[in-house]
Amino acid sequence: MFRNLRTTVQNAPLNAAQIEVLAKANQLAGNGNPGDAAPLFAELARELDVLRPRQAANLHARAAHAYADAGNAQSALTQARTGLSMFIQYRMVDRSPVFYANITRKFNNKGMKGAATAIQNEFGGKVGSLPPQSPAPAKTALRHGTLPTNCPKCGGPVHSEGASWIDNQTIECEYCGTPIRATVNKP
Ligand SMILES: [Zn+2]
Repeated sequence: MFRNLRTTVQNAPLNAAQIEVLAKANQLAGNGNPGDAAPLFAELARELDVLRPRQAANLHARAAHAYADAGNAQSALTQARTGLSMFIQYRMVDRSPVFYANITRKFNNKGMKGAATAIQNEFGGKVGSLPPQSPAPAKTALRHGTLPTNCPKCGGPVHSEGASWIDNQTIECEYCGTPIRATVNKP
């Protein structure tokens, strides 16, 4: 009965101290300080690796983007490798191709050709061989209502694609695990 990961609520919200770190990291990243945000994301990800691997995977991905934005190719590559490996290991099939495409593009745009090539060589075949994304995520979001763009608790970005719906109107924040309610548009 726990086979469907998408509908299994397996991630309890983070504790108060962890949410504080995450909120600070999101704020720094949003204020043009990716170099200060990146180690906070990476540290929190490492802390959650074992107990909350899906949240940890998303945080490694955030750390990779922040390190790349800060011009630190080596740390960005390390975080991207860990994030992608975990997305694949935990069958997060909506996240892996999206993150793979985004981080490869970012590496190339920032002149980090070595990192882009490494990711493509190591993960291109694996991401490509994963099952296709679930159909019509946009329609799913519409049916559920409108989600806020950021988590009210930790400030992390909210993606309706691949979200874990707790009930008809509620998703779980992919970073901190807080339930986030969608607003249903009244006719
Ligand atoms: Zn959150």
